[in-house]
Amino acid sequence: MSTMTLPPVAKSFFTFCKKCDADRYHKVITHTSSTSAKIECEVCHSKKTYTLPKAGASMAKKATTGVRKTSVRKSSHADEYNQLMMNRGDEKGLPFNIRTKYELDQKIDHPKFGPGFVKVVQIDRVDVMFSDELKTLMHNKH
Ligand SMILES: [Zn+2]
Repeated sequence: MSTMTLPPVAKSFFTFCKKCDADRYHKVITHTSSTSAKIECEVCHSKKTYTLPKAGASMAKKATTGVRKTSVRKSSHADEYNQLMMNRGDEKGLPFNIRTKYELDQKIDHPKFGPGFVKVVQIDRVDVMFSDELKTLMHNKH
């Protein structure tokens, strides 16, 4: 896993919107510092400041000034999910259907859980990473 960096300007990523009271895509307007950015909710257009969670080392550069231990890794699920959404947020997900056979890394669009990414594929079930957790769903049913 790489260290957390801000999403690039004009990119959208998935984070909580207080006004919508739901997870929404937010577009990055500008970076205000190396760890915070002005973002705008794509649904209600409210603007807010997004600050990177302190993850030990939030420096994108390999500034090896002194010895820094980066063993503190928490909430890697949210990090990984945000990273996926940052890279593939624009990708069209397949609508979820129990009859469809999904493949590894497939992005799916679940009516209840939202966008997700297939992490594990078995014959009749898939583990899909959604914003809050990994869920096991059935698929490939005939
Ligand atoms: Zn909103």
